[in-house]
Amino acid sequence: MRLEAVELRLLSLHLHSPHRTSEGEEVDRPVVLVRVCTDEGEGWGECAALAGPTYSDEYALGAYDVLHDFLVPVLLAAGPPRGGRAHAAALEAVQGHHMAKAALEMALVDAELRAAGRSLAQRLEADADSVPAGGVTGMAPTPGQLVEQVHALVDAGYQRVKVKIAPGHDVGPLRAVRDRFPDLPLQADANGAYRMGGSATAVPPGLVALDELGLLCLEQPLPADDLVGHADLARALATPVCLDESLTSLGRLDAALALGACRVACVKPALLAGIDQAVAAHDRCRELGADAWVGGMLETGLGRAVNAALAALPGFTLVGDVGGGRRFDEDDPFGIVELVDGRVPVHFGPGVAPAPDPAALRSVTTRFDTVSR
Ligand code: MG
Repeated sequence: MRLEAVELRLLSLHLHSPHRTSEGEEVDRPVVLVRVCTDEGEGWGECAALAGPTYSDEYALGAYDVLHDFLVPVLLAAGPPRGGRAHAAALEAVQGHHMAKAALEMALVDAELRAAGRSLAQRLEADADSVPAGGVTGMAPTPGQLVEQVHALVDAGYQRVKVKIAPGHDVGPLRAVRDRFPDLPLQADANGAYRMGGSATAVPPGLVALDELGLLCLEQPLPADDLVGHADLARALATPVCLDESLTSLGRLDAALALGACRVACVKPALLAGIDQAVAAHDRCRELGADAWVGGMLETGLGRAVNAALAALPGFTLVGDVGGGRRFDEDDPFGIVELVDGRVPVHFGPGVAPAPDPAALRSVTTRFDTVSR
């Protein structure tokens, strides 16, 4: 398979409901889309970077630039594609930028699979035809409104619900949810908003109070680089600590598990620079007996399909951020998957996801570039 050119698109999408976390509110959802053009066909990849560098240091326009100026030229210079793994090595010439690299890898994998008439699920040897749906809700102005948001997810069939928290918006709203839904599998995500009080025993009181609520896990309470702090916190809490933003490489995952910084891993292909590294993280968690689940990044139907196929792997022992239904004000070029009995169907056609609808894609594309050899 010979790589001829790579097209970059910037899609202007807007979330149907604003998503509020400890890092701020997401409304605009620009998406960088990659299309690789080969002599055997095309492949599509989605970059998970958000509008601003709030969740991580990557952001959509920065990812567009690094793809255009560095990653795509490196890939085109690397010679005939020999699969995603070979190209991951070529892309190591550029430091960091895992989300941009993951988009290119996804497009290469998609092209390979389309040419071979195979699905991602087949490539991963994941044979479940659907995965349980996990819902995520942002912070709400009042506990009552949060309960309503959770109610809507439960009514839609979501099998577990994750609630975003921040200092001052933690145990109160979550207790209201727990009182209304005593048996709901529930977890909380702080997106790194808490700080230890200067010693290993100075645990933020809002987090100690969460122990009474029977949460599946507490996700990323402290900043991404504070593995030692997470280990101290994990020893002090009964609720299992989960890491998300911290897990940007297999090395980080190994260090976190060895330190006891987490008992649960949120695995995101975008943070780990691609599907293959996400599978490796899955394998490592399975080998070491750590619970794991697939995290989401407010993706289009393309990224959602990849996450659903990954979530079908047996080591993902907890329900992931894998959902369906309408996400954007605009039509999603990759379509909308609806939940069936609280589950998300896994794509079994050729490629990682269905190809985009050309008219829907055109209507949300605000920038377009082609990089060729
Ligand atoms: Mg998270």
